[in-house]
Amino acid sequence: LQIFHCAKEFGKYTKALRGTIGFVPTMGALHEGHISLIARAKAENDHCVVSIFVNPTQFLAGEDLAKYPRKDEADKKICELAGVDAIFMPTIDALYGHDEPKIIAPNVSGYILDGERRPGHFDGVLTVVMKLFMLSNATNAYFGQKDAQQLLLIRKMVSSYFLPVNIVLCPTVREKDGLAMSSRNIYLSQEERSKALCISKSLFAAGALIGKGELDCKPLDAVMRSLLDGIDVEYIAFCDRDLRKIDHIEIGSSLILVAVRIGSTRLIDNLWI
Ligand code: AMP
Repeated sequence: LQIFHCAKEFGKYTKALRGTIGFVPTMGALHEGHISLIARAKAENDHCVVSIFVNPTQFLAGEDLAKYPRKDEADKKICELAGVDAIFMPTIDALYGHDEPKIIAPNVSGYILDGERRPGHFDGVLTVVMKLFMLSNATNAYFGQKDAQQLLLIRKMVSSYFLPVNIVLCPTVREKDGLAMSSRNIYLSQEERSKALCISKSLFAAGALIGKGELDCKPLDAVMRSLLDGIDVEYIAFCDRDLRKIDHIEIGSSLILVAVRIGSTRLIDNLWI
């Protein structure tokens, strides 16, 4: 396992690799969700590289940048056990310079849902992912469906800028009780965690109704809201894969996205239909 802190060194290393490169960008505090992406990147490529970088440009003022969990040593162990070839863990200065050009997220799909509540968040995500794609020389890059809007915007950037990388969607890994794994789950108290179970329950209930033939989003929304009663719901959204609002579910091309606040923790989850 090689560890790179310097961007140029990492870029030189990946450029010299022969064969396919599977790349998994993360913010660290690795859990089973990340590990599933790494396992897939490892299985499907000649080389597997992971980045661990808590990207400041995707946090808004007042968000949890300072307290975001950092577990570098444990993360290195996890990567080693998973057979990762190299980790890129740059400092902020190694990745960002002064007064740089930025990628701006699409006007519409980048500024609705999470982008509406966190304006500029996806500009930061796309900017760092562009830098990481250039440095990783990835053949395939692995992203979790858990962050649906992020994944769809990255896929859009790749197609808009003709980037030579294939985006691989990976299913959301959940705790046994349904809660989507997230580095932010550690912020939850016992009581908040059991409240948070309503999120996946509401999505699974909608999924079950869709399975029985209910394709109208109105009753699906009503059922989800009843299951999320007492929770601070930021949004429940029914969209197509371009993040355009829909009234009717189409099997194979629809998405249900949910964001809630539990205490001071913001949690997102979704269902790909
Ligand atoms: P993060 O470290 O939160 O920025 O996530 C890094 C990558 O792991 C992103 O592509 C996420 O979508 C993915 N990821 C995070 N949580 C999960 C999960 N529970 N299941 C699958 N992928 C996940």
